[in-house]
Amino acid sequence: MTTVETEVLIVGAGPAGASSAVFLGKHGVSNILLSRRRSTAETPRAHITNQRTMEALRDAGLERDCIAVASPSSCIEHTFWLRSMIGEEVARTYAWGNDPLRRGDYEAASPCSMCDLPQTQMEPLLVAEAARLCSQVRFNAELLSFKQDNNGVVALVQDRMTGQSFEIRAKYMIGADGARSPVVEQLGIPFKSRLVVLGASFDPIANSYNIIRIELLAQRHSFATSVGSDMRTVDLA
Ligand SMILES: Cc1cc2nc3c(=O)[nH]c(=O)nc-3n(C[C@H](O)[C@H](O)[C@H](O)COP(=O)(O)OP(=O)(O)OC[C@H]3O[C@@H](n4cnc5c(N)ncnc54)[C@H](O)[C@@H]3O)c2cc1C
Repeated sequence: MTTVETEVLIVGAGPAGASSAVFLGKHGVSNILLSRRRSTAETPRAHITNQRTMEALRDAGLERDCIAVASPSSCIEHTFWLRSMIGEEVARTYAWGNDPLRRGDYEAASPCSMCDLPQTQMEPLLVAEAARLCSQVRFNAELLSFKQDNNGVVALVQDRMTGQSFEIRAKYMIGADGARSPVVEQLGIPFKSRLVVLGASFDPIANSYNIIRIELLAQRHSFATSVGSDMRTVDLA
C-alpha cells in the first residue's frame, strides 16, 4: 500500500481544520488537510463570527478578504421573534454587540468587529490560503482508522472517488472532523453532553414562548422548558 508522509495530518477541512492548516503553513509546518466531503460547506451553517475569531482571521492575513464577503455587524442588529417568516413580529432584542448600552464594551474589547460570515464564504478562503501556504488539500478522502506508534501516527485513508486506500504517516494528527468525530470515537473519549435540539415554540394558550432544549446527557434524555422565567426539567429516560 502507498504511504505518504507529512508532519501533521489534519482530519477535517471545516473552519477548525482549514484554519489549523493555515496557521501551521504560516509556521512552515508541512501538513495534509483531508475532508471526506467533495467540497467546502454547501450550506451557510455557522455565520455569526465573533470578535475573537476575526482576530484569528486577522492573524491569518484573511480579515480583509473575509470582511469583503461578509455582512457587517450593523446588518445583524436584532434577533426577532415572528409568527412566520413574513408574519407579525412578536418581539425583538438587540443582538451581537449592537445594544447601544453595551456597544462601548465591545469596541473596547477588540480591534476587530463582529460580522456575519457564512461558512460557505469562510471555508473557501481558509482552504485557498492553506493551499497557497503549501498544505496538501484532499477532498473526497476519508479517514477509516489510525494507529499510534513511537514515531507518530499512521492513518488509513480511502479516496472516495476511486475507492483506493492509502496510508499517511504523520508526526501528529489533528482531529477536526466535526461534531460526530470518528477520531474522538476511535479514541474512546466520551462526550459529557450533546445538544440535540434547541428551538422555540409558541404556546397560544399561555400566550408565551417555550424555549426547548433536548440533550443527550450520559445516555439520559432530558427536556428543559421555560415559560417566562420558570425553567423546568423533565426526564424522558
Ligand atoms: C444545519 C447546520 C446549521 C448550523 N448553524 C450554525 C449557526 O447558525 N451558527 C453557528 O455558530 N454554528 C452553526 N452550525 C454549527 C457549525 O457548522 C459548526 O460548529 C462548525 O462547522 C464546526 O466546525 P468544525 O471545523 O469543527 O467541523 P465541521 O465544519 O463539521 O467539519 C468537519 C470536517 O471533518 C470532515 N470529516 C468528518 N469525518 C471525516 C473522516 N472520517 N475523514 C475525513 N474527513 C472527515 C468533514 O468532511 C468536514 O470537512 C450549524 C451546523 C449545521 C449542520
